[in-house]
Amino acid sequence: MEPQQTQYDFAIIGAGPAGLFAAYELLQQSKPLKIMIIDKGPDAMQRKCPVSVNDSKCLNCAPCNIMCGVGGSGIFSDGILNLRHDVVGGNLSDFTNDDVESNKIVDYIDQIFLRFGAPERVHGMDDEKIAQLSLRAMSAGIKFVRIRQRHLGSENTPRLIQKFADHLREKGIEICTDEGVKDLLIEEGECRGIVLENNKIIRAKKIIFAPGRVGAVWVGEMARKHNIAAIHAPIDIGVRVEVPAIIMQSVIDVNRDPKFHIWTSKYEDFVRTFCTNHEGFVVKENYGSVIGVNGHSFTDKKSENTNFAFVVKTRLTEPLENTTLYAESIARLATILGQGKPIIQRLGDLRRGRRSNDWRLKKSTFHPTLTDVTPGNIAMALPHRILTDIMEGLDKLNEVIPGVATDSTFLYAPEIKYYAMKIGVDNNMETNIKNLFAAGDGAGLSRDIVKASATGLLAARGAIRTF
Ligand SMILES: Cc1cc2nc3c(=O)[nH]c(=O)nc-3n(C[C@H](O)[C@H](O)[C@H](O)COP(=O)(O)OP(=O)(O)OC[C@H]3O[C@@H](n4cnc5c(N)ncnc54)[C@H](O)[C@@H]3O)c2cc1C
Repeated sequence: MEPQQTQYDFAIIGAGPAGLFAAYELLQQSKPLKIMIIDKGPDAMQRKCPVSVNDSKCLNCAPCNIMCGVGGSGIFSDGILNLRHDVVGGNLSDFTNDDVESNKIVDYIDQIFLRFGAPERVHGMDDEKIAQLSLRAMSAGIKFVRIRQRHLGSENTPRLIQKFADHLREKGIEICTDEGVKDLLIEEGECRGIVLENNKIIRAKKIIFAPGRVGAVWVGEMARKHNIAAIHAPIDIGVRVEVPAIIMQSVIDVNRDPKFHIWTSKYEDFVRTFCTNHEGFVVKENYGSVIGVNGHSFTDKKSENTNFAFVVKTRLTEPLENTTLYAESIARLATILGQGKPIIQRLGDLRRGRRSNDWRLKKSTFHPTLTDVTPGNIAMALPHRILTDIMEGLDKLNEVIPGVATDSTFLYAPEIKYYAMKIGVDNNMETNIKNLFAAGDGAGLSRDIVKASATGLLAARGAIRTF
């Protein structure tokens, strides 16, 4: 029997920032359109942490389903909007070829977040403090990246996303949750719809493919199966650094999520800080067979520490271009060494070439926030080049943030940002498969909330142009 079929003008896969903003932009058309968004996760207000983390203290941060559901990933943990079109999270001008237009898009996205309840306050506006920090950084051979940032806050975000989704629903968009897409319907070289996990077929004239980082493996499978043009993008591999919050306070006063860019001396590699969680918590992440670390911070729950990702950009050429495979092998090694838990090491132990153990961890002047860890030796898990970059980078950073690289500093591994294969798109964000448009992190086109939202918006505009 022929499976049940439904016909739409637009089908959007993924209700993260990319999918939601694509839908929002489609609504700006005067013509009524039949639009659906489909997400394999739950609705915004149903997203609650089902398990406890960190010694049974539930942070309500939903690390377990943070990647899935209306609102997508990340936005529910801290939700910092980087109000800049380039440098962090991708560069919108790669798609618009126009910095002025890219900046307008960032402002437009910011206004929409404000409309649905984002706080008015913008961080990173104090020119004098920025100039002082930039000078300090430059003197150490480091670039401090100036970014205006809006902090959505973990408590605020579910309401904001719910309001956003309610608006889309009121305007007639169908948002289907807890429904996974398993395949793209490709007929005669064109994308004509999607196939759900329950085998139901949804036909649509245009399909926007925005499944986020959680869908990255699936995107790779789809690219291979349907010959969607894609390349392997560079990947970030490193550690999560944790220090007493007081050490970071002076830079946090300048920017909520300060970004430092460092070129190391030995290998001339690019190392950067990102995802800073001031007074936050390090958390364990499970990626199926391998584990990783991440960080969260909350408005009402605070620790005495600050953590941030410190990662090396890793690009591979021939004979192995598959950066994901390389990073997974490192994560597997770390997972084996840590017996399924992240490895923690004091920087002092790493410097002395010895593993950390419970006794040595206690020599630090503060306590780690993640205790579901294995004290060990990160040098056994990370390649020499990455480890050298990290140690050298931390020493340089210490010149800008005194105290960030003391013997007491905790390092957690592996911190890996898996980026998807980068899907090839044209000026309309259309792939080489007609009617299939790509957006967001899952397609390797963005790496933060604002850029994901912007690529969704651009995909919607492109899809409308070709409608
Ligand atoms: C812990 C954490 C903290 C972060 N903090 C920040 C931050 O402060 N600031 C910032 O700018 N960025 C942050 N990020 C990154 C940011 O969250 C992402 O860049 C952004 O959410 C990407 O948007 P997206 O729409 O491309 O994908 P996502 O937000 O990942 O959304 C994709 C959606 O697609 C759905 N999906 C996947 N596969 C399928 C399928 N087969 N069928 C149906 N649905 C599917 C998923 O359930 C998901 O809801 C953070 C990320 C994480 C993980």
